[in-house]
Amino acid sequence: MTEKMLAIMKTKPAYGAELVEVDIPKPGPGEVLIKVLATTICGTDLHIYEWNDWAKSRIKPPQIMGHEVAGEVVEVGPGVKDLHVGDYISAETHIVCGKCYACRHNRYHVCQNTKIFGVDMNGVFAHYAIVPAKNAWKNPKGMPPEYAALQEPLGNAVDTVLAGPIAGRSTLITGAGPLGLLGIAVAKASGAYPVIVSEPSEFRRNLAKKVGADYVVNPFEEDPVKFVTDVTDGAGVEVFLEFSGAPKALEQGLRAVTPGGRVSLLGLYPREVTLDFNNLIIFKALEIHGITGRHLWETWYTVSSLIQSGRLNLEPIITHRYKGFEKFEEAFELMRAGKTGKVVFFPHGH
Ligand code: NAD
Ligand code: ZN
Repeated sequence: MTEKMLAIMKTKPAYGAELVEVDIPKPGPGEVLIKVLATTICGTDLHIYEWNDWAKSRIKPPQIMGHEVAGEVVEVGPGVKDLHVGDYISAETHIVCGKCYACRHNRYHVCQNTKIFGVDMNGVFAHYAIVPAKNAWKNPKGMPPEYAALQEPLGNAVDTVLAGPIAGRSTLITGAGPLGLLGIAVAKASGAYPVIVSEPSEFRRNLAKKVGADYVVNPFEEDPVKFVTDVTDGAGVEVFLEFSGAPKALEQGLRAVTPGGRVSLLGLYPREVTLDFNNLIIFKALEIHGITGRHLWETWYTVSSLIQSGRLNLEPIITHRYKGFEKFEEAFELMRAGKTGKVVFFPHGH
């Protein structure tokens, strides 16, 4: 008889998801089975839950959701040599082909054949999950599982913040959602000063302060460009990090950054954006980086070391911890309402 487990599954092409009992999967060649110790909700999971246009075009129910994970290897599939039962791992969620033009230039983060677990195949919101061995990242035993699971989104934040120099640089972060909050933690751990955060939600402005933002501003009540100008004595910020996906925030940040400054763009816009390129980018001689995913595997080394350094203030970012998946609907609805930082499930308790 096959053993059963619980999983949050997108069962139908409609709003929501269901907690269902399914068979514990068997690892195939090149795969391992992990006992999921912690898994966190990402904005992508929320889009799949809400069944937005992107989800409709990409997701094929029924499928187990979730991709950010930390777990213990409990079974090793055929041909897996470098992972063993008992190993404590997280996972790079982008499965790259290794063969395309980008991969052969070591640009795995822009592999054109990328597949993602919880998006293109079953995910990790379950008691047990399959991970391809080549995507496993070994964690030091002492790292708390919720931090280990956070490494994947932290990788996005690290690539955004550390795309150029940051120590001692004045920095504007727009958007203090889960990713922006991780960005604040990385910027502060890396010595950015002052870190100014523009965020309309009071709940998230307060979280931003707890994580270490030096100044917060509500862009719906105050002009963030004037705010930045005042704080920086008229100079503007050296570094502008866009984490909101709001076209208005992009424009304000480009105005607030000093000529010759550096810009990293992570937020994804719901539509095409119109900008005054001449005055906001070209005549300002800005250095602009588009950020997608994480560098494999350089970013993982940086993230792991930053966590182990003890300098990342992650505790205020984890606002909700759930034992088991029973209250998953509450978790998703709170996140939809913007009333969370990161939400963690401990499927087997904690
Ligand atoms: P989120 O939606 O939870 O956070 C966005 C935050 O921006 C919210 O707190 C919101 O209140 C705030 N905001 C809205 N309008 C604003 C404005 N005018 N000025 C300043 N802040 C404003 O999203 P998240 O999960 O934190 O992700 C952040 C962004 O990163 C999203 O756009 C997401 O799609 C994108 N993302 C990109 C990648 C990538 O690889 N490029 C990966 C993951 C997520
Ligand atoms: Zn590839």
